[in-house]
Amino acid sequence: MKRIIPFLLVLALLLPLVSCREDARTEVESEIAAIREENIAKAESIGAQGAQGAHEGSGGTEGRTDGSPNAEPANNPSKKNRDGILSSEYQIVGNKFYFRTGRKNGVNIVTWYDVSTGGHDVICPDPLCKHDDPAVCRFIQVHEESDFIMADENTFIRSYRPNPNAKNDVYRFDLTSGETEKIYKVKQDAPDLIAVRDDVLWLVDYDTVTKNGRSAANRTLYGVGIHTGETVFEQELPLDCRVVCAAGDRLILDTVKTIVSASFDLTDRVTILEYANADRFGSWYYDTNTDEFWFGIVNQEKQTGTVYTLRSGVCTPVQLPAEEIYYFQLTDTKIYYSPYEPVYIGENPDLAYGLWDYSGGKIYEVKRNEPSSEANLIYDAKGEFFITRLGVSNYVILGDQLFFDNLSVVSRKDGVFFNAAGELPKVHIDLRTGELAYIRFE
Ligand SMILES: [Zn+2]
Repeated sequence: MKRIIPFLLVLALLLPLVSCREDARTEVESEIAAIREENIAKAESIGAQGAQGAHEGSGGTEGRTDGSPNAEPANNPSKKNRDGILSSEYQIVGNKFYFRTGRKNGVNIVTWYDVSTGGHDVICPDPLCKHDDPAVCRFIQVHEESDFIMADENTFIRSYRPNPNAKNDVYRFDLTSGETEKIYKVKQDAPDLIAVRDDVLWLVDYDTVTKNGRSAANRTLYGVGIHTGETVFEQELPLDCRVVCAAGDRLILDTVKTIVSASFDLTDRVTILEYANADRFGSWYYDTNTDEFWFGIVNQEKQTGTVYTLRSGVCTPVQLPAEEIYYFQLTDTKIYYSPYEPVYIGENPDLAYGLWDYSGGKIYEVKRNEPSSEANLIYDAKGEFFITRLGVSNYVILGDQLFFDNLSVVSRKDGVFFNAAGELPKVHIDLRTGELAYIRFE
């Protein structure tokens, strides 16, 4: 139910899913042909060795092969501008940012980056693990940033299937001791993990019910002790209502037609926005310093995303310089965004209109308190990289430093796909100097 097609499931963003206009396609066609040829060639050479590496213990080919990495940029990013800002795009504990990093063949793993030291690693504590087999490595194949929770630096929580016949029950992993404990037994499939508060994990579990001849998800909100496994709260949600996230002492609910703010016990519910059937919820940020909730609503028919803020119970649209927004990030003083500038990549059988980089490779910034003022173009990939959600994670900007997965386009008999162009690479660009490096997670 929750998983549609992993790389189609683009909840985290203002990301238009479906048709792209023909004129956009024509405009970029020749430019793309060149990019495509170049990237397919690159991907094929990298993919050839990666394809066998995953399950056949390729040992010697584990070495880094793409030949281009430089040293880390000298300037470590600062998390200052993200202090107190919770996000659908990453998690912060202490000085560490946690986000997923792509591996070859579509697998990903949770990784961390320490902004105080520049240190970085995969989260898997086993030095001998190859992070390629879900029966062995518990930290791979995480579909969304919201599909795991760092309760603290040592406590990793996710739903997980220890073998193909098991269900996606929820486990707590102690990264220091290696202790693994099942804390919640699911009804049907992977539940939505919402937040941890005072050692209680809030999650939404569901089972399928048939009503008026159609099947629907019957969702229930649970509070579960992360050390006790004890259920301390249980309340059924209205039909077609899902919990998006926790924002301060409120839950944000999406009923498909409305966005609702609710108390954790669901007794107090206030509609904050009504939206059209063709729309859906996008990415979100909650500023704990100002109690503001920022989120995107995507109009799938017009391919347009709109950013909203919720302040003191009042929800208003944010006027950014571009009308159509593909993706945005929020810091204490700035909004980073990529306008919707689709670039066609090629045919893909799972995507009705083919494979696109909807970001156009561009990132702008505006002042948060003057969002309609003139925007600065702070990064232009110029076809050298793809910074699209359709790869693995979205780009993340920490201080003056930009991070994103190094994607290539892989051509197969059945179409073209984005794939990680190397083993656990992340591109790290110092936005002040343009200096580029690849982060390696061993
Ligand atoms: Zn591992």
